[in-house]
Amino acid sequence: MATNVPCYAAQSAKAPLAPYRILRRDARPSDVVIDILYCGICHSDLHKVNNEWGNTHFPVVPGHEIVGRVVSRGSNASKFREGDLVGVGCIVDSCRVCPQCRAGHEMFCEKGATITFDSLEQDKKTWTYGGYSTSMVVDERYLLRIPQGLDPARAAPLMCAGITTYSPLHQFGCKAGDQVAVVGLGGLGHMTVKLAASMGANVTVLSTSRGKEEDATRLGAKQFVATREPGALEALAGRFDLIIDTVSATHDLNKEITLLRNFGTLILVGAPPAPIPLEAFALIFGNKRIAGSNIGGIPETQEMLDFCSKHGVTADVEMIKIQDINKAYERMLKNDVKYRFVIDMASLKD
Ligand code: NAP
Ligand code: ZN
Ligand code: ZN
Repeated sequence: MATNVPCYAAQSAKAPLAPYRILRRDARPSDVVIDILYCGICHSDLHKVNNEWGNTHFPVVPGHEIVGRVVSRGSNASKFREGDLVGVGCIVDSCRVCPQCRAGHEMFCEKGATITFDSLEQDKKTWTYGGYSTSMVVDERYLLRIPQGLDPARAAPLMCAGITTYSPLHQFGCKAGDQVAVVGLGGLGHMTVKLAASMGANVTVLSTSRGKEEDATRLGAKQFVATREPGALEALAGRFDLIIDTVSATHDLNKEITLLRNFGTLILVGAPPAPIPLEAFALIFGNKRIAGSNIGGIPETQEMLDFCSKHGVTADVEMIKIQDINKAYERMLKNDVKYRFVIDMASLKD
């Protein structure tokens, strides 16, 4: 018998999120039942609710930056105990046996990963519902341990924004002294600044919002450039080893490529809905590279949490009640988030 729990859902594309109820399965032997304390709001939630990627199945309950406490567990679940603080990120299941799963790249599971919301379970029939809810049931293999000392609300955004930006920095060997540019100072962008600075890089923020300059410095950037000001980008030509682009909307990549040094790499993590034109010569002159990076697997997510614990890195959050979710989405669309909204799930229990 499944448990009926409250949540917030959108019933159709662009419909506001509103109270709804969903069923959570009974714990299977390797499952853990968690009470959700906090859930971050990722721009992907908004893309999905608005069906901007064209593949949303409604009703949709977003949320994949989840921190909660273990309340009970199945008979074979032994990794966590009741009361433990745990995280759930973007992945809640996968086949577990294919080469990608074995390598810890569960997001690329050859049988199709089960994503935390708007995705099919491994039975290929049951839809998943995300963290804008009071509780959830997750196989312990996909749960993360929140290290002691990390504030649980400020740790919630690490579950997507943290791993999505840690992973490319790690993959592309970000190290002390590297010149790293971060494009877009939102949820992912501010995590990139903190993480790259903790790795010893010299970080420059490229932003459309002049008002974010002071924050960029406080977060660890050495330089801030307001990209819409005349001549701003020309002054940076050939500067960067790595550029991490976190922008959620269509924008000019060719200009960004001019900022790479020879053999430098532009990594896209932002996922604008529309295609972006690319000039071959922008890459050819200087052997420049363009790459993408998709969230991160479970082992790397735990590694990122441990890195954050060691370096005292968490998100800058603005806590909201779930009843204010639609206002938060409007503000996110205006680039007015400092720097991640986090839902206090106690507001759904009132
Ligand atoms: P966010 O908090 O809304 O931040 C996006 C930032 O992009 C804004 O704060 C703004 O920064 C900048 N921006 C927005 N519109 C722009 C425009 N027209 N031109 C230039 N810059 C613009 O969003 P987020 O949660 O960080 O997510 C960012 C993107 O990453 C989304 O597309 C999301 O779906 C995607 N994402 C990808 C992955 C992955 O696995 N690759 C994982 C999570 C999210 P400034 O004010 O500084 O200009
Ligand atoms: Zn996300
Ligand atoms: Zn697999």
